This record gives sequence, C-alpha cells and structure tokens, in this order.
Amino acid sequence: MAFFVRFWGVRGSIPTPGPQTHRYGGNTSCVEVEVDEVRYICDAGSGIRELGIELMATAPKPVRAHLFFSHMHWDHIQGFPFFSPVYVPNNHFTIWGPKTADRRFARLLGGQMKSSYFPVDFRDLGGTIHADDLGSGDREVDGVRVRVFHQHHPGVSFAYRFEKDGVSVVYATDSEIDLDLDDAELPTRDPAALRGVPEDLVAFCRGATLIIADGQYTDEEYPRFVGWGHARATTVVDLAVLAGAERLAVFHHDPMHSDAEIDDLIRVCQQRARAHRSELQVFGAREGFELRLDA
Ligand SMILES: [Zn+2]
Ligand SMILES: [Zn+2]
Repeated sequence: MAFFVRFWGVRGSIPTPGPQTHRYGGNTSCVEVEVDEVRYICDAGSGIRELGIELMATAPKPVRAHLFFSHMHWDHIQGFPFFSPVYVPNNHFTIWGPKTADRRFARLLGGQMKSSYFPVDFRDLGGTIHADDLGSGDREVDGVRVRVFHQHHPGVSFAYRFEKDGVSVVYATDSEIDLDLDDAELPTRDPAALRGVPEDLVAFCRGATLIIADGQYTDEEYPRFVGWGHARATTVVDLAVLAGAERLAVFHHDPMHSDAEIDDLIRVCQQRARAHRSELQVFGAREGFELRLDA
C-alpha cells in the first residue's frame, strides 16, 4: 500500500504565471492524494485543469474521484469549470464536506457557473456529481479514514486528514494558527522558542507522515496580515514539530513571492526545524511534484 501525493496547484489567492514563479508554479490550490488507485482531490483551484487532462489521458474509465474542499474562496474553486472529466457521461465525482457544508459546497460550486460568469451551467455537466457528508467528521471513504478539522479563517475553512495502514496525510490550507499574537509584532523575541498553536490542531496533525499547510507569510510580513486567516511559515514549522510529523510541505504561496523568495522562506523554515532539534523535513510545495509515502 502506498500513498501518492501530487501537487497540481500550490499558489494562494490568484494564479501567478510568469518567469518569477515558474519553478514553484502559479496555479492555485489543488492536491491529489491517490491510495490504491482511489483518488482524493483536495480543492479545485486552477491547478485542477492539468489534473483533469492527466485523468482523461491515463486514468481507468469511467473516471471516479472524491473531491474535498477546504472552503469556497475563489482560489479553491475557480478551476472546477475547467476540470474536463466532469463533462464526460458516466464519470462520477463525490463532493465531501462536514455535515453542514457538503450540499452548500455543491450549490456554491455551481454559483460560479451561472450564465453571467460561465457558458455551461452546473446542471448541464455530463458527469455525475454527488454530495455526501463526513457525518461526525470521522468516516471511512473507499477504505481510507478521513477526518475533518474546523480551521481559523474568514468564514471558516476545513482541514482533512487521510489515513490508511499507518500512513497519514493532512491537508490544512487557509488557516491562521498563531496564538501568541504579541509575538507577531515582535518577531525577534526568543526566536527559537516554540510558539503557541491550537492544541486541538496539534492533536489532529499528530504523527502525520506529511502535513501540507498554508505557510503564506514570512516573519517580516505577518504582523501586517494578522487576522487575514493565513499562517506565517515558521509557525507552521512549530506546529509540525509539536505534532511529531515526518514531513511538512509549505503550501499556498503568496502571489507576491517569487521563486527566489520562496527558496529563502523554505531555508528559514528548515533552519527553524533544526533549531528545535527536530528531524522534520521541510520543503516548499511545487507544482508537478509527486511524493510516494509508504507504510
Ligand atoms: Zn486560499
Ligand atoms: Zn481562503
């Protein structure tokens, strides 16, 4: 049994194509988790377009996949109308969410396909789209245990944890996690000390093989963006260290950050992990990157 994790879109807020971003990529959020040939797709930012092309070319037909949305901010849904497999009859997609959100998710997803915005109506898609919910927030979906966590973000966002046979992947984007906000104003205060993050989030991430987490801001930027609902990357390192995770993918890169700036940010994060005497492996999520995680 192996988990494959593929990054199709890693950028936050808005697509940023161009020479400054070509290495990490400019497409917005989309991550594919494949377990025993079942696909769990996290978010439908502009990166899902390329995933759709790949599935049409190589996946067994009809195409089946589970869709998990962190929330309905535009950078997480804007690729959906360009996800070609949803237009093909007999392809089947299930939209999952917490009990209160799943059906609302399907409705909001269709909202961006109203005729003023897009030429094809959601109801006219050829494929079958079904909404289901995660019940109490902990449910088995095609043999993989999926858990959900409510995050701090304007209008709420959800993290998901996918787990099977000792491998676990946490997808936790669009989440502000710093509890010591005084420290945000004073980034130089005891820089090596672990910062306060929500205990229930640490428990949710406990022992993860991989955490994919919003690390949009540098330490210098974060004081200006407190309350915007995104994390500074160095605090995400602390979360991963506290949770005892093996790997951390810093994700939802700021649209203002060039490849060189993301390189610098990742270096700072790796130094922070070492300063905590942690074995945590930190890398910057990069479009087109595939990771295989074995039990
Ligand atoms: Zn976002
Ligand atoms: Zn958001």
